[in-house]
Parts: sequence; C-alpha cells; structure tokens
Amino acid sequence: MGSLDGRVAIVTGGAQGIGRATVMALVKEGAKVAITNIRCAKLDQTIQEIKDMGGDALKFCVDVTDVEAVQEMVDQTIANWGKIDILVNNAGITKDNLVMRMKTADWAAVLKTNLDGTFYCTRAVLPSMVRQRWGRIVNIASVVAQAGNVGQANYIASKAGIIGLTKAVAAEVARRNITVNAIAPGFIATPMTEVLAPEIKEKMLSVIPMGRMGTDLEVAHGVLFLVSPETSYITGHVLNINGGMYMA
Ligand code: NDP
Repeated sequence: MGSLDGRVAIVTGGAQGIGRATVMALVKEGAKVAITNIRCAKLDQTIQEIKDMGGDALKFCVDVTDVEAVQEMVDQTIANWGKIDILVNNAGITKDNLVMRMKTADWAAVLKTNLDGTFYCTRAVLPSMVRQRWGRIVNIASVVAQAGNVGQANYIASKAGIIGLTKAVAAEVARRNITVNAIAPGFIATPMTEVLAPEIKEKMLSVIPMGRMGTDLEVAHGVLFLVSPETSYITGHVLNINGGMYMA
C-alpha cells in the first residue's frame, strides 16, 4: 500500500530530470500518472518502466504553451481515470543571456513555457479538483527567483512569477481543500545543468554550504511531501531544496 493509492497525477515535462524522478516517486507511492512532454518519444521508456513496476501511466505529447492541447490532455486524463488529484508543474526551459543582449524572442519563450504553461495547466485542472474538494498543486520554481542571478532575467522573472501565481491560486482555492505550493530547487544535477561550463559549475558549488549539487530524487521527495495526505495545512508555501544555498 502506498500513501497515494488511488490518486491521479499529472506531471509536465516528465521525460527527464526532476520531472522523471517525480513521476517515478509518485508511481512508487501508488499514484496513476499522466506524463506530458514536448518531445514525447522520450517518454516511451519511462512508460514501459512504470508498466513493468505494475503501475499505470498515460503519455501525452503536449507542449504546455498550447492551451488547447493542455485542455485535451486534462479531458483525456479525466475520461480515463475520472479525476485529477495532483498537478506538478515542472516543465521549464532556460535561454540565458545578459539583459542588454537578450533577444525579445528568448524573453518571450521562457516566460511562455515556464509561467504561462504553469497557468494553463493549473486553470485546466482546477474544475476537477474543486468538484471533488481535494487537490494538490506543486509548482517548480527556482532558488534564483529568491536570490537573483546574472544572465537569467527571463528565467528569474518567470520563476518569481510562478511564486506569485502559487500564492494567488493558493488563496483562491484554499476553502476547497486544495493546496498550492512551490518548490525552489537550488543547483540540481539534471540534463538542464549538465550542459553548463565547468567554471560555472565550480562557481555554483562554491556558494552551496553542502558543497554538492542536489539530486532529482531529493526534489521529487519534496513533491511527495507536499502532496501527501499529512501536509494538508501547508499552502502558499515555497519549499527550499538547495543545500543551504539560500536561506529565506
Ligand atoms: P530538464 O531540462 O532536464 O527537463 C525539463 C523537461 O521539461 C524536459 O523533459 C523537457 O522536454 C520538458 N519541457 C520543456 N519545455 C516543455 C514544454 N513547453 N511542454 C512540455 N514539456 C516541456 O530540466 P530539470 O529537470 O533540470 O528541471 C525541471 C524543472 O526544475 C524546470 O522547471 C527547471 O526550471 C526547474 N529547476 C531546475 C534546477 C536545476 O538545477 N536543474 C534548479 C531550479 C529549478 P524536452 O527535453 O523534450 O524539451
């Protein structure tokens, strides 16, 4: 028996990194998971692994910036499993540059995926959660939304927007027994950070009191904490998972 037996979850950007670790952690606790990814061929192996574990999963080739596709994904999940209990807004991208050199298109693309995508998915799942008077939404923000960073104005604006959105939605749906929280991961070893230059990694490590990168599983456990039945009075919160990199 898992703590999430019978629960239905949607995880965006679930093909790799933090999203994939979150999917596997939810499945191990008994949840059925609808996984979305922009490049969905990458999801096949994950879906097979879940089936081999005896779990249940649906695959959606959905770009979270596509409002209609997001709605269709939510409708199909409900058609298959009857409801949505948990949403993890994890899909995210970076297009780093100094503000003076940042292209308008790169500003817009990051805001669109990270912030608009979170809004579209949240809006689409809320009717099901409101109907059943139960829901858990976890939005993946970032430590840089709290601490700032050079060369990431678009990303930081999107992640700070996610924290604001988290608090606004948390207040709106609190009486419906729906909690809405954010996680602010620090420097986590995933394909997103794998591509960083060695000198940037060194610089990041030098400001982390624990002296190491976090793992995708350490973030996934934060998600499990926030969606668990026991954390029902935590809402509008930002959970730091950053090895001491920023202490709010
Ligand atoms: P990855 O780049 O490893 O994974 C992101 C996933 O999101 C990919 O599978 C990607 O698919 C998918 N994705 C991107 N755009 C879209 C879209 N428009 N629609 C659907 N899926 C999409 O990132 P991480 O695992 O490192 O990061 C996950 C989240 O955590 C992100 O929101 C990130 O900003 C945040 N975060 C990460 C930190 C880190 O240090 N790694 C630190 C703080 C926050 P595809 O590859 O096909 O494009």
